[in-house]
Amino acid sequence: MGKKRLLIMLNLLSVLFLSLILLVVWRISFLGLSEIHEHLPVIIGAIFALISIILTLLLTLSIKGITPIFFEKTSYFLINMLFPISLKIGKLFGITKRKLESSFIAISNVLFSRHNFKVEGKDLLVITPHCLQLASCPHKITRDPNNCKRCGGCNIGDLMKLSDEMGFTFFVATGGTLARQIIKEKRPKVVLAIACERDLMSGIQDVYPLPAVGVLNIRPNGPCYNTKVDLDEVRSILKNIIVSKE
Ligand code: SF4
Repeated sequence: MGKKRLLIMLNLLSVLFLSLILLVVWRISFLGLSEIHEHLPVIIGAIFALISIILTLLLTLSIKGITPIFFEKTSYFLINMLFPISLKIGKLFGITKRKLESSFIAISNVLFSRHNFKVEGKDLLVITPHCLQLASCPHKITRDPNNCKRCGGCNIGDLMKLSDEMGFTFFVATGGTLARQIIKEKRPKVVLAIACERDLMSGIQDVYPLPAVGVLNIRPNGPCYNTKVDLDEVRSILKNIIVSKE
């Protein structure tokens, strides 16, 4: 199953589960409702059914990647809201949280790309975690990545060179608080974030509705230590977003 579909399929199962709960609630309250008014059970039943149908429809459209733009916020909210239930259902099938987070990022990136955002380099912020820096590097690059000597020891130097070439703002954050601070300060129109599944998912949710595209880091040495990033992937995403000034 495709990355994007995984979470949506579990979201659909979550909707099915919620619909069953609504059905039980409706059945239990049937007599009481009919005592209030003879048509009330039908009206309440119809409302419950409508809720289930709308939720299923929105999620099905998301699977096909054809959610109408004006429903995008609702779909996004729905996917977020159903995430904890989907996580529990996923566990029953042996699906890890990381896989679901990765699926969330894939969905979020598809929604992002549909907008075809175009901004000048100065309005785009690329943000990475500190673990992308070579652990033995003596230069302090958080707060000021210009301290990087571009020695080729890690991808920080490569991203600095790319930043000089394409004009985007580059920042290395030690955590979510610093990342939020810099976004508040720089006021970018678009963010490209590089991180692990967990940090990307929470980061994208945190900055929403600010458009953010996520790139997963590569962890050949395990999590949070001398991580890397696929520069070709970063460059190709940036090329599609950044427009030259002239
Ligand atoms: S590229 Fe920059 S951050 Fe990486 S090891 Fe060299 S000086 Fe340090």
